[in-house]
Amino acid sequence: MKHNSRRHFLKASAALAAGTAVLRGTPVFALTDKPIVTLVPTQLMQFAYADVQLLDGPMLEQFHHNVDLFLNLPDDNLLKPFRQLAGQPAPGEDMGGWYSPSPDFDPPHNMTGYVPGHSFGQYLSGLARAYAVTGNMAVQHKVQALVAGFAPTITTKFYDGYCLPAYTFDKTNCGLIDAHQFAGDPIALAVLNKATDAVLPWLPPKALNREQMMARPHKNIAFTWDESYTLPENFYLGYQRGAGSRYRQLAQRFLEDDTYFGPLSENHNVLPGQHAYSHVNALSSAMQAYLTDSSTMHLDAARNGFRFVLEQSFATGGWGPDESFRQPDTDQLVNTLHTSHSSFETPCGAYGHFKIARYLMRVTGDSSYGDSMEAILYNTILGARPIRADGISYYYSDYNMNAKKVDYPEQWPCCSGTFPQLTADYGISSYFHNPKGIYINLYVPSRVTWRQGNARVIITQLTSYPNSGESALHLNMDRAERFSIALRIPAWAGKHTCIRVNGKLTPVALQPGTWAHLDREWKNDDRVELSIDMPLRLVPIDPQHPDTVALLHGPVALFAIDPGAANMTRQQLLAAQKVSSTSPDWEVATDQGKVRMKSFPEITNETYRLYQNT
Ligand SMILES: [Zn+2]
Repeated sequence: MKHNSRRHFLKASAALAAGTAVLRGTPVFALTDKPIVTLVPTQLMQFAYADVQLLDGPMLEQFHHNVDLFLNLPDDNLLKPFRQLAGQPAPGEDMGGWYSPSPDFDPPHNMTGYVPGHSFGQYLSGLARAYAVTGNMAVQHKVQALVAGFAPTITTKFYDGYCLPAYTFDKTNCGLIDAHQFAGDPIALAVLNKATDAVLPWLPPKALNREQMMARPHKNIAFTWDESYTLPENFYLGYQRGAGSRYRQLAQRFLEDDTYFGPLSENHNVLPGQHAYSHVNALSSAMQAYLTDSSTMHLDAARNGFRFVLEQSFATGGWGPDESFRQPDTDQLVNTLHTSHSSFETPCGAYGHFKIARYLMRVTGDSSYGDSMEAILYNTILGARPIRADGISYYYSDYNMNAKKVDYPEQWPCCSGTFPQLTADYGISSYFHNPKGIYINLYVPSRVTWRQGNARVIITQLTSYPNSGESALHLNMDRAERFSIALRIPAWAGKHTCIRVNGKLTPVALQPGTWAHLDREWKNDDRVELSIDMPLRLVPIDPQHPDTVALLHGPVALFAIDPGAANMTRQQLLAAQKVSSTSPDWEVATDQGKVRMKSFPEITNETYRLYQNT
């Protein structure tokens, strides 16, 4: 997606002027994100969806695209596989790909007809969250119509001969609890109870990994791919949101303690060989076991597990080539630069990454989780091609030495489900708060509104980040109030990073890799300007291969465009220059001529290379 940062900066300035009007109004809708069950207290708290509004920029474009696309898909099409498998009249068109039943399904060669209706719950969830962000009644109406249409199709027959019952039910569960929580759906929890009764006979007695699934009789290979170990997160959330105590018991039943969380909590890296996205997603189940049941073993498991993921990540923040984790201290990861074009499952991986990073940031207050979130944002998901109306979707980012951006051949894959959920979560990923004040996690064009002590505060953030390091916050307050504004200073930030308050340089010591706290009495019209020094730097793929490096400018990985056989030395890479003051592109002068370098979102159909052998 092409994005002119200056154009967006100017448009956002106009939106800032409009910010004063928001202060006088009252919220038009008041749904609560607050759970009804007491959770373990955390360092930081998430905002409600309605509190954060994105302003013009590529994130808002992606959010709008996804909302419009799913809002306009006919209910009959979305409900068709459920009606068909229940033996009911099923008007509407087949959506095709993974979504519609098909006799062609022959795993792993032909994935048409793979998991009928699998992503219905995620589309529902994405819409419910989008309603909570926007208050758009058409979106709420769509959510409620889909839940009402889904309810009479529920039958235990649906899962007869269905290869991934836990996988699909987990998404249905998420959609229904989000419809209840975020779109005020009056029947969603009752529908969930019925759907739970329908799936229970098809679930294993406990969470099973793929090895354990392989050891059981299976009709074909796809029957060994179910992901019962991801169920607890949404079961816990259902319990928190009032679905009843059986959901807490179900959550506890499916925690994969023996082969995954137990060893992880003792710092054993059991990731190699495991399916990547579902095991990152399972870490969020561990976080819910901590938040709901105070299990510190599960918190340790999630922290260690996520650290093991980061240790085998690419310079983009992406991980899990061919959807699988690798053995550290080997050539396995670097070899995938030659053997794979499926380097990072982008929408699903980014969704799972944002989710676990938010949990860990809430619990620990550690700003480094935000560093990893922004890497994923700028280097992966913002470069994903939009989902097409026919369901063709972007799936894998390619980090091969000879790479291209391509769509996935099947319609409506998993990544078409997580993408709308992720874009609805962009706002709540950008800011956190606690009684001391606000934490600015992402530098994105946005506005956050909340009550701090006795004051109603609106912060409008304007930024050209990450094309430059400059961001500005403008405060709109109905009375003065003392609190802290904490700014995330990325670990890679250079020594010229500085903060100005109302034009004056602050004496606050800036420690890269931590929050900079500005604790003072704030008043209406105060301004904060953050200037992050973004040095060019080289990041090796892993410690064993220090000469296989990616060039980064701040959080942004720069990909060599149509590099051919051009070789680049470390000195040449670090001497890269911007093509012009207005272009986001860079240039490296090599012995074979100039090589253009682009960020991932700027790449369209060119051949590119992330890693350079120096
Ligand atoms: Zn996916």
